[in-house]
Amino acid sequence: MSTFKALVATKGETGPNLAFTEFAESELMEGDVTVRVTHSTVNYKDGLALTGRAPVIRRWPMIPGIDFAGRVETSQHPDFKPGDLVILNGWGTGETHLGAYAQKSRVKGDWLVPLPAGMNPDEAMAIGTAGYTAMLCVLALEKYGLKPADGPVVVTGAAGGVGSVAVALLAKAGWHVVASTGRPEEADYLKGLGASEIIDRAELSAPGRPLGKERWIAGIDAVGSHTLANVLSMTKYGGAVAACGLAQGMDLPASVAPFILRGVSLLGIDSVMCPKPRRLEAWARLAGDLDRERLALMTTTIPLADVIETGRAIVDGKVRGRVVVEVG
Ligand code: NDP
Repeated sequence: MSTFKALVATKGETGPNLAFTEFAESELMEGDVTVRVTHSTVNYKDGLALTGRAPVIRRWPMIPGIDFAGRVETSQHPDFKPGDLVILNGWGTGETHLGAYAQKSRVKGDWLVPLPAGMNPDEAMAIGTAGYTAMLCVLALEKYGLKPADGPVVVTGAAGGVGSVAVALLAKAGWHVVASTGRPEEADYLKGLGASEIIDRAELSAPGRPLGKERWIAGIDAVGSHTLANVLSMTKYGGAVAACGLAQGMDLPASVAPFILRGVSLLGIDSVMCPKPRRLEAWARLAGDLDRERLALMTTTIPLADVIETGRAIVDGKVRGRVVVEVG
């Protein structure tokens, strides 16, 4: 029987029981492409899944891990052949479909994106779902019609994964980036990524007024709750905020004032079910626009054995930037 190394989660009383085991290839789920996974990553959602702090896992047993990069082993899909390098983000992987923290994964070829030319699998996972989501946010602001000459952009949760990639992408595109963080000690790190101003997240995280002083024309918010409400209330006339995260909370205790008095727009960003053409556009732009030196600056690399501990750290807000997992 052919087996491979995997982290398997089984349903426990207070959260998942996690164990590194040998997993039988015959137990892999349906799909027309089998991939030898070489790299994965730890996103906030992986932390929620690994700790059980949110019901991310909806099928048991599960191999957690929402994204991977690797090499196609076998394929019945017309777009992929053995040896092709591919990326997978989302589509329920690690939630309802066996996921990334394993040496093999079988998925639908329609879910896969070819690794862009000139990008390595470890760089793809240094970007990961967090970085691809940051790119989706930038694309949304651009499609809305906003540009650097219109004014500053605020990024919340700036020292986290989505935030770090968003800061680097926006700075490279010429934006004046206001980075909001609860970690003042990361100011030099954020400036290294291209932030022009650092603000304390406490300025945004408490209940605020329906309309505040106009401070920025655009925003990328990974935090939700009062932070998103305040970001909206401080957005200049005609601006827009791309909302993708809930690190502070899933609630949105806001008023309609920014929408109806300043014509501000809220742009919702989902990476999981995002249609393939938009994914291809995002990965092409990441390949071309994201400064690799800045990507390296925000990345740490861990072995698969360390994902459980890193999952705990990320939901506690203790991970800086991005984490690459060497699946090996
Ligand atoms: P990270 O943990 O790397 O980043 C989150 C950051 O948010 C932290 O680093 C911290 O930044 C800040 N933060 C954490 N807790 C709080 C708090 N209580 N109040 C205010 N700020 C806080 O996670 P990711 O970058 O991987 O993900 C960020 C968010 O985006 C998550 O909620 C995730 O679920 C969501 N997401 C959504 C996707 C989608 O498809 N919509 C896809 C990918 C991610 P700092 O220390 O700088 O203040």
